[in-house]
Amino acid sequence: MTSLAPVPSSAAPAACTSLESLTNLPAEHLLAGQQRVLEMVAAGRPLAETLTAIAEFSEEAIPSMMASVLIFDPESQSLRKGGYGRSLSPKFQEAIDGMKPGPDVGSCGAAAYRSERVTSRDVRVDPRWTPFVDFAAMHGIISAWSTPLKNAKGELLGVFGMYYGDTREPSKQDLRLVDHFVHLAAIAVDRWRQDAERERRATQDVLTGLGNRLLLQEVAARMAADPAYTDVTCALVMLDCDHFKLHNDLLGQRKADQLLQQVALRIRGQLGQVPLLARFDGDQFVAILPERNGAAQRRVEDLLVSLRTPLLLGDSPVTVTLSAGVVEWQPRSMPLDDTLMQAIEAAEVAKRLGRDRVVVFGDSERARITGNRIVTRVLRDALDEDRVEPFLQPIIRLADGRPSGFEVLARLRGGDAAGISPSVFVPIAEESDLIVKLGDSVLRFAFRTLAEQAEAFRGLTLSVNLSVRQLVREGLADRAAVMAREHGVAPERVVLEVTESQWLDVDSPARANLLALKEAGFRLAVDDFGTRYASLSLLQAVPFDHVKIDRSLTQQLALSPRGRALCEAGVAMARACQIPVTAEGVETADQAEALRAMGYDLGQGYLWSRPMPVGRVLAWLSRHPAA
Ligand code: C2E
Ligand code: CA
Ligand code: CA
Repeated sequence: MTSLAPVPSSAAPAACTSLESLTNLPAEHLLAGQQRVLEMVAAGRPLAETLTAIAEFSEEAIPSMMASVLIFDPESQSLRKGGYGRSLSPKFQEAIDGMKPGPDVGSCGAAAYRSERVTSRDVRVDPRWTPFVDFAAMHGIISAWSTPLKNAKGELLGVFGMYYGDTREPSKQDLRLVDHFVHLAAIAVDRWRQDAERERRATQDVLTGLGNRLLLQEVAARMAADPAYTDVTCALVMLDCDHFKLHNDLLGQRKADQLLQQVALRIRGQLGQVPLLARFDGDQFVAILPERNGAAQRRVEDLLVSLRTPLLLGDSPVTVTLSAGVVEWQPRSMPLDDTLMQAIEAAEVAKRLGRDRVVVFGDSERARITGNRIVTRVLRDALDEDRVEPFLQPIIRLADGRPSGFEVLARLRGGDAAGISPSVFVPIAEESDLIVKLGDSVLRFAFRTLAEQAEAFRGLTLSVNLSVRQLVREGLADRAAVMAREHGVAPERVVLEVTESQWLDVDSPARANLLALKEAGFRLAVDDFGTRYASLSLLQAVPFDHVKIDRSLTQQLALSPRGRALCEAGVAMARACQIPVTAEGVETADQAEALRAMGYDLGQGYLWSRPMPVGRVLAWLSRHPAA
């Protein structure tokens, strides 16, 4: 049990039997009461409950006395409500709550101030009570004895106040009894303080003095359990330092830590008292603001502005900017973790948009994320259950109108999956390794089709789209070559389409993979040419067999002379490298004719056919033979 200030041995709990003579209560009763209080302390019951039990217990032992225990709060240097006996109304403690100790502040304020017992035989004539005469009269107080509670180090813990409705001065015996209760109350407060301190340390970030992640969890759990937060909307804010790794590298760990402390100070100074401010991870901070998105955004913007004034690291000014994500959070109804993910996502968007800015996670993002999650699930199920069944769209030789091959376009079959277009599920698949699974299954489909329908597809190629995630994986060429061998299909029957940006970097594994695929005999096509960084040097980085001009260019063709010039530029660039060119998205015969005249070799689009399942392709081929 907690060590405490030595109390006169006669008043120690061990001397309880002798206390019996001081009160009308039998010794067992006193002992049982004391035991009950100590058990409450040991069980960590709420402090107010334990102090109230002590006050009630003391009122029982000393009839005609009114008892109250106040707690001293070192931070605010004031007395806060603790517990009180049955003879005092709750109003009594409410009125005293927050009182600052002082030489002339009643008996309790004076006892706390002087750190010794103060007795007022008659509060009506005691100058210390002058400000409180009405208060005393209201509660029927005539005399008051106040004893400070202290711990072993002599630190003030609170005050035990005893009040009577008549003029009294404590006898020696009274004082021994009082000390008994003071001792119990001191044990309770000291223990509570130590627990609170331990808790504070566990939830504090050592470097910055802010809270840590544990505090975030605790505060959130507390808010979630608090009926006062029903239907209340707060804002959860993620603050991520920009380029902190750079500061770390430039300054070294020790100074970077100091810088982080400075950032924390600035954030705390700027946000002021908020329900929570914690260091989340490394150079990230998280805050809960008691307001909705709009107001929170303004407050965070002010913080960002204040951070543009450099921090001082020794004598050197250093500027650290923040990327912030703000999301609304209803503590009672929304799980913290989901909301936190959204705040992090919004902060990441802020980084992508150029840093030093706030992004609010709004309804559209929420809908998008929920949508993404659903699509991911549907896609994963479809992959697990082998429900990827691509469609084929013919690619036509513009010179004679005959098919040269087909593009394989992913489709999902069955239930929810069937309605989802690849323009939706492919980008979502690309956010994870699902794209590798999807890509493999489309590639396998292509080989299987060429093998199983060898007769119908004689002399035709199948073009398969490769995503960047597949392209940067080691061993792509080997895997594809194995698949070709397993199906007995010559690799040159398969064209692999990659979009322009995917092999941008000369040293990239993507380029190495492309060269290996080429080496293995596959053909390569540049997809969507003209939408990004169309350039000759890019075309020369890898020996491509085809260039596919994006359908947005085809659609510009008829619209303006400029559109026409764009299409001409596209074909000219590919021609310069002597690579055959395909126009995508050809919808009208006029477009097809204009493209042919410009020198395009191949066309693909609704003019000839929409993408169709293999079954329909066979019928289509019987009407449109390759040769
Ligand atoms: P993409 O590679 O540019 O494929 C051509 C898209 O244009 C296809 O859309 C096709 O249906 C559409 N299209 C064809 N002709 C016309 C036309 O005349 N007019 C118009 N407006 N559109 C036409 P789809 O099948 O919805 O595929 C969309 C995108 O999804 C593809 O664009 C490709 O980037 C991606 N994708 C499809 N399948 C796969 C796949 O297996 N793997 C990967 N990585 N991506 C795929
Ligand atoms: Ca394509
Ligand atoms: Ca394309």
